[in-house]
Amino acid sequence: MSDCIFCKIVSGQIPCTRVHETADCLAFLDIGPLAPGHTLLIPKSHVRDITEASPELVATLSREIPTLSRAILGATGATGLNILQNTGPSSGQVVMHLHIHLIPRLEGDSLGFRWNAGSYAAGQADAMRDRIIAALQHTA
Ligand code: AMP
Ligand code: ZN
Repeated sequence: MSDCIFCKIVSGQIPCTRVHETADCLAFLDIGPLAPGHTLLIPKSHVRDITEASPELVATLSREIPTLSRAILGATGATGLNILQNTGPSSGQVVMHLHIHLIPRLEGDSLGFRWNAGSYAAGQADAMRDRIIAALQHTA
C-alpha cells in the first residue's frame, strides 16, 4: 500500500532499526518505545489487522515470536514481556498494517493496563458463549 508507513519501511523508503528479518516478516524497534527494546513484528505484505490476516500469515508471524522474545529478554535484561496486538482504532491501533508489539517488562515498572475486571450476571456468560459460537459458524 503506497501510503502505509510500515509498507514504506518494508520497501526501504523509510528507515527502521531492524532487529530481525525473514522472507515474510520484519521486526524493528518501535520509534516510540514503551520500554527499551520495545519491538514491532510485522508481515512484509500489507494486511490491515488480524481480522484480515489468513491463518497461514498469522502462523508465519507467530513462528518468530518465541525466538524474538528470548532475544529481547536476553538483550534488555527484562524479566517479562507483554505481547500486544491492537486491532482497530478503538483498541489503540494507529498504524493500519498488522503488527505485534513485544514490550519488555520489569518488576515495578510504570507500564500497565487499567485491568478493570468485570463479571457476568447469572446466565450472561452462557448467553455470550452462545453468541460467539453462533458467530463462529458464520465466520470463515
Ligand atoms: P499501534 O498503536 O498498535 O498502531 O502502534 C503503532 C506503533 O508504531 C506505535 O507504537 C509507534 O510508536 C510505532 N511507529 C510508528 N511509526 C514508526 C516508525 N517509523 N518506526 C518505528 N515505529 C513506528
Ligand atoms: Zn502496509
